[in-house]
Amino acid sequence: MPKKVHVFNAGPCLLPQVAIDHAKAALDDFAGTGVSLLSISHRTKEWDAVMDECRSLWHELLHIPDTHEVVFLGGGASLQFLYVAMNYLEKKAAYLDTGVWAGKALKEAQGIGEAYAIASSKDRNYCYIPKGWTIPTDIDYLHITTNNTIYGTEILKDIDSPVPLIADMSSDIMSRPVDVSKYDLIYGGAQKNVGPAGVIFAIVRKDSLGRVSRHIPTMLDYRVHIDKLSMFNTPPVFSIFIMNETLKWLKSIGGVEAICEINRKKADTLYAEIDRNSLFTGTADREDRSRMNVCFVMAPGKEGLQDSFLSFAKEAGMVGIKGHRSVGGFRASIYNACTQEDVQALVDCMKEFERING
Ligand SMILES: *Cc1c(COP(=O)(O)O)cnc(C)c1O
Repeated sequence: MPKKVHVFNAGPCLLPQVAIDHAKAALDDFAGTGVSLLSISHRTKEWDAVMDECRSLWHELLHIPDTHEVVFLGGGASLQFLYVAMNYLEKKAAYLDTGVWAGKALKEAQGIGEAYAIASSKDRNYCYIPKGWTIPTDIDYLHITTNNTIYGTEILKDIDSPVPLIADMSSDIMSRPVDVSKYDLIYGGAQKNVGPAGVIFAIVRKDSLGRVSRHIPTMLDYRVHIDKLSMFNTPPVFSIFIMNETLKWLKSIGGVEAICEINRKKADTLYAEIDRNSLFTGTADREDRSRMNVCFVMAPGKEGLQDSFLSFAKEAGMVGIKGHRSVGGFRASIYNACTQEDVQALVDCMKEFERING
């Protein structure tokens, strides 16, 4: 038996054990073919069945309307930054600057055409979501990052936009209901909440494509991948297999609506302890707190205890709670597969640390 741990890694994330168990079995024998999942041909009916199931689970769980299609590709969310500009940027685009990932998306677009930050929370190290800005109507699209993985802020409401809305949902996809019809494109890496590293999802409004005049290289053209059902080239079969198993697990526990309630409760539990405990303080503005990545630091005057808490928590089995270097302190990523028990273990650990050091 491996050591009992509670995994709060920001990504690659904790995955449901059943998905890992099914992947292990498929490594020996994929779908009764006698062939390892690693050696199958992706041009077989057994693999087609996985692709079809995965696509329909996406549609079912997120209530994706017929106007949209979902594709699965390689290259990470970071390559999607370029896809976005290639497929949608004609004259000008606006980006909401809510952190490092939003900034990288913007920078990639600036290499293709005119793109600018419409508002930014950089002045306070991205600890809030900018308010009071309006969406201009002379832009090709507005790009937002719904969950800011590094800073623990989240846009929980679907924005009403007069221009096409594009969202990087890498770290909060499938954690709560989303009105997909409000977006022309939703994309992200699977490894934060819906699968292992190696595959991205892109939910595309089909009639939003084909509006730019540039030549789009084949591999960067969403139309190609929609037409070929994500099999223009060899898909990342292992990653897609586990993503499919992860979505099957999500469906079995009641889908996005059910996990949303569980996620809300987990976040409430952890934030309540951060607010109560005299040794810790949250970093994000309360109204913008993320339900996925909970960031906190030692309370003023208690900074000297940081390393001590890290080793105390490690000893208690907490994995991955060191904060990102640009924020410091601690970050607990409490994605879908993280349970209320995991969160409670961290809370108990914080309480015990206060008892000893308070
Ligand atoms: C992790 C992350 C990315 C980058 O994902 P890669 O797959 O590593 O390229 C982009 N956006 C957000 C919001 C992320 O959390």
